[in-house]
Amino acid sequence: MAKKSREILWEVGCEGHTDAWVVAENWELATVEAAAFWDVPWAKVAARCVCKQRIPGAPRNVCCRCGRVYYGPAPMCGACRETVRTEEYLLQQARRRGYRTGKLA
Ligand SMILES: [Zn+2]
Repeated sequence: MAKKSREILWEVGCEGHTDAWVVAENWELATVEAAAFWDVPWAKVAARCVCKQRIPGAPRNVCCRCGRVYYGPAPMCGACRETVRTEEYLLQQARRRGYRTGKLA
């Protein structure tokens, strides 16, 4: 038997970033994981993170994004992992362009 897990699946939102899906024991750790996904210092985003979903005991091997059964690390399948990384990358590119042209304050 696998060790009993207290892990919770979180959907973490933050202004200027795509939503991050992370598995963590508590909210603080979830924001740490989310900051790692966004590749930003935790201190910069911690206060702006919002909890969009909290799913205790989420089934393993079921992708949180597309709902397919898969094998690999939680919480999403490889294809979705790639997709969200690309979404985040494109969003950051767009924001950088925005800053340069002065459209975003
Ligand atoms: Zn998926």
